[in-house]
Amino acid sequence: MNIAILSRNPKLYSTLRLKEACEKHGHTVEIIDHMKCVLFIEKKNPVVLYQGRKLDYFDAIIPRIGASVTFYGAAVVRQFEMMKVFSAVESQALIRSRDKLRSLQILSRAGLGLPKTIFMDYSADAEDSIDAVGGAPVIIKLLEGTQGLGVVLAENKKAAQSVIEAFHGVHARIIIQEFVKEAKGADIRAFVVDGEVVGAMRRQAKDGEFRSNLHRGGVAEVIKLSRTEKHAAITAAKKVGLSIAGVDMLPSKRGPLIIEVNSSPGLEGIEAATKVDIAGKIVRFVEKHATKKKIQKDKV
Ligand code: ADP
Ligand code: GLU
Repeated sequence: MNIAILSRNPKLYSTLRLKEACEKHGHTVEIIDHMKCVLFIEKKNPVVLYQGRKLDYFDAIIPRIGASVTFYGAAVVRQFEMMKVFSAVESQALIRSRDKLRSLQILSRAGLGLPKTIFMDYSADAEDSIDAVGGAPVIIKLLEGTQGLGVVLAENKKAAQSVIEAFHGVHARIIIQEFVKEAKGADIRAFVVDGEVVGAMRRQAKDGEFRSNLHRGGVAEVIKLSRTEKHAAITAAKKVGLSIAGVDMLPSKRGPLIIEVNSSPGLEGIEAATKVDIAGKIVRFVEKHATKKKIQKDKV
């Protein structure tokens, strides 16, 4: 097969590992910078142009779209979908997962555990919202944040109110969330591929820090998930529409509480912790589905 990895940085661990896995499985692979793709749209002739070439020979794409370029990246993925190219990440699911609020609403309907969350307009009373999630300490999160940036722990009501005011002052959209103390600075990342958990790790925040992101100095260790945790991760990925997802959960007395479903989960931390060839599993998933699509296409 001809596979494109959509990535802005060919030197990233995840990009390199996916490329290596494609080659190992006998595929021809190219790394395409989605931001340099030009989309040509006309009647029945969707085209992606790249450095003066037409990209009309790919059987599948593996998108690795960063959070800062979701709109453009999703448009490129959608264009490939219009050209009947199999995408490992659907454009709609990518967009859905990048909207933390929308994702939480969907997970809530699916009956999955979540930290109590409030979303409100600037005009609403901050104090009421803090009370509604059980009072301080509370977590205040920028809806557009990633890698733990834009997540604030406000220890008391006064601090929470001033953080909320400050975010509102710069017209940033935020959610207010119950602080899950029992998690003790740890969270669980379950890596889901094709309806299965292929690896899971527990990330522990460094001392004096509540955010367990590896980017924030957290350390990871491999863990075996309980049945409930496995089920939560698989269901969350499915409900958001992602075949490849990094599902983040906080352990609690009420069971796992999902905080995020990532559509471009990093491979480095999880492969190092679990020693599982996750890139290989992603390629196998692509093979299964892209081939199917091709056979169907030929029959029509
Ligand atoms: P990001 O998308 O920026 O990674 P997250 O929502 O995943 O943001 O939060 C970053 C980290 O902060 C999590 O990995 C977790 O350790 C901690 N955290 C997030 N929400 C809560 C919460 N409600 N209670 C306790 N800790 C939390
Ligand atoms: N690419 C990283 C991931 O999805 C960033 C998100 C994070 O770890 O917080 O794993």
